[in-house]
Amino acid sequence: MAAITMKNIVKEYGDGFKAVRDVSLDVQDGEFMILVGPSGCGKSTLLRMIVGLEDITSGEMRIGDRVVNQVAPRERNLSMVFQNYALYPHLTVYENIAFPLRLAKKPNEEIDRRVRETAEVLELTEHLDRKPANLSGGQRQRVAMGRAIVRQADAFLFDEPLSNLDAKLRGQMRTEISRLQRRLGVTTVYVTHDQTEAMTLGDRVAVLRKGVLQQVGSPRELYEQPVNLFVAGFIGSPSMNFLPASFDGTHLDTPLGRVPLDDPRKAEAAGDRQVVLVGIRPEDFEDAELVSAEKRQRGATVRVRVDVTEWLGNEQYAYVPYEAPADLAGQLRDLSRELDSDQLRTQAVVALDAASLITAGDEAELWIDTGKLHIFDPATGENLT
Ligand code: ATP
Repeated sequence: MAAITMKNIVKEYGDGFKAVRDVSLDVQDGEFMILVGPSGCGKSTLLRMIVGLEDITSGEMRIGDRVVNQVAPRERNLSMVFQNYALYPHLTVYENIAFPLRLAKKPNEEIDRRVRETAEVLELTEHLDRKPANLSGGQRQRVAMGRAIVRQADAFLFDEPLSNLDAKLRGQMRTEISRLQRRLGVTTVYVTHDQTEAMTLGDRVAVLRKGVLQQVGSPRELYEQPVNLFVAGFIGSPSMNFLPASFDGTHLDTPLGRVPLDDPRKAEAAGDRQVVLVGIRPEDFEDAELVSAEKRQRGATVRVRVDVTEWLGNEQYAYVPYEAPADLAGQLRDLSRELDSDQLRTQAVVALDAASLITAGDEAELWIDTGKLHIFDPATGENLT
């Protein structure tokens, strides 16, 4: 196994476009690192530079203690699992898994032993004589992984391996990859655009946007302490609400109502900015009717009109339309362009307990857990709290 160390990595394509901009990232020995970001953020390019399928314009790439910038892909001892599995349809499962060992001209006995061990780990033993066409999507995925494992590579690299699967199978495979990675303890870099996959699979997650590394941290760190609007909006589903607010030193005037900023540390961070963006996760609202008196002592209660509700069985979402004050509208438009998304919505999304009786059209009281508020600088997008 080996660590992967990236130092000031830049990728500039022939047309002068910089797909990766000065990325420094350490993947520790045995770590499961996720590269996540929206389409075009440069995550596949970065992965391809690790494997050696793409030249590095500048910076240094190390695998273990070896600088590999000039090392050919096959000399890097890495194993890549692609989205389309790339299995050989005319070969059996056994021969598909054996393929890299045959290429390496290993003796038959060793090949047989290693293929059988790998099949055992992946629970493919009873399918060794089948062809890929006669396997389920999940089994094919495991064969593709088997081919990576059998080589005893220093690291596994995955490029969106689950994106062709249906939702149920994707969930199963996610658990399977996670279990396998932990069992084998192999250094793994996994590219996805899916924040759920990122949050559930990785030890750490690196969030990329437009070729720039935004934040690296455990899923919990990214969720609880996102460094900027982009990460805050990208991680979590439904995504964080961003409300424009004016700040008078103690209270925030948001389109949903007046909310105290009672945490002195947060008030200090907001400083003398008169306009901020307040970030509230959908689950940091509650139906005030269901909130204990003790909880009501802290936090804030606002009165809103609920437009639409969606009941999901274990929880429900309520949509609360609001209008941003006119003087903020221009600034917000610029920001939302910057975020390439509709994160600065004109409605707040609120996750309510399934027991809540709030329904569409209701005027309702919502309790906000103000201890969990995030305050963002509207000019830079930086999280001030
Ligand atoms: P996706 O999830 O859509 O695959 P990604 O984050 O993996 O996106 P990359 O494939 O790394 O993105 O591409 C990053 C950027 O580099 C994109 O804007 C893409 O258009 C550009 N790009 C990729 N390959 C080339 C190339 N050969 N020449 C010029 N630009 C390229």
